[in-house]
Amino acid sequence: MKAFLHDDQKCHYPKDYLVNGVFVDNPEHPARIDHLKTGALAAGCEFQQPKNSGLGPISAVHTPEYLHFLQHAHRRWSYIEGASEAVVADIRPVARDGAYPASVVAQAGYHMSDAAAPIGADTWTSACWSAWTAVAAADAVLAGDTHAFALCRPPGHHASAEVAGGFCYFNNSAIAAVQLQQKYPRVAILDVDLHHGNGTQQIFYKRDDVFTVSIHADPVRFYPFFWGHADERGEGRGLGYNLNLPLPRQSDDKVFLKALNTALARIEAFAPDALVIALGIDASIDDPIGGLAVSTDGFHHIGQTIKSAFSGPTVIVQEGGYISSSLAANLTAFLRAYTQK
Ligand SMILES: [Zn+2]
Repeated sequence: MKAFLHDDQKCHYPKDYLVNGVFVDNPEHPARIDHLKTGALAAGCEFQQPKNSGLGPISAVHTPEYLHFLQHAHRRWSYIEGASEAVVADIRPVARDGAYPASVVAQAGYHMSDAAAPIGADTWTSACWSAWTAVAAADAVLAGDTHAFALCRPPGHHASAEVAGGFCYFNNSAIAAVQLQQKYPRVAILDVDLHHGNGTQQIFYKRDDVFTVSIHADPVRFYPFFWGHADERGEGRGLGYNLNLPLPRQSDDKVFLKALNTALARIEAFAPDALVIALGIDASIDDPIGGLAVSTDGFHHIGQTIKSAFSGPTVIVQEGGYISSSLAANLTAFLRAYTQK
């Protein structure tokens, strides 16, 4: 299976983020790429560099205001005397019904939902290459490959059309889905990350051409808190085209696979032309974030179960999954379902 990754996805280096009011080390570390690449190579993936696809595929999902902000925020922020190295929001509009502000301080509040997606000098570069990695994997599938893997980093599923958050800037899975629509009009996105894919849900919430499904730790007491609940089903034309399957904390393989079968039955009923798997592997029992208890074997079963339910064009997009003793092995286990003959 072809896999895509660009070296410049490593440049972005968010030093810390805010947890319970305290700045702590940010686990979305550039070295994640080394672990994940090792895992993908062990599964038999063959890596290629993506090409620069320009802003077209990114702006198919994100607003011009947001793109302009993300591209220039760090430079503008650096002009402020005494400001922090990275852009972090310190004021946010409670409702989004006010004016669009001119100051970078206020725009940071407008475009950043939390303090977990700081913007540094290299964030724009790495976020673009991460998105182009997703585009390249979608293009490989459009050109005839049945499966392709995008080693996206930074991840994307918490980013909505105009808001960064939760380590995410561009929604790589959404970008891949829209790219696939050039040939495959009906796309399902199956998100198996530990956290609800709130950005992806927001982007497609009123649409019936992209079916969004997320299996995740129950957000009632877990990030992203405000979204990911079972009663969020879509709106307008999109009603019935969003499915959330929240799981109790520390759910194991058995509980996860049961929810996966529910998700896949609904995806089968949607009859998609293509599938995007938003592959977070932070549901691992070893993940430092800690929320669910999926084993390495469990990830292989998850991969096998998805592949046997949907054999059509599939793009696998890396989402979360943080450095632990089993990060590489968990990715290998999942991807083997797609690489073994
Ligand atoms: Zn996650």
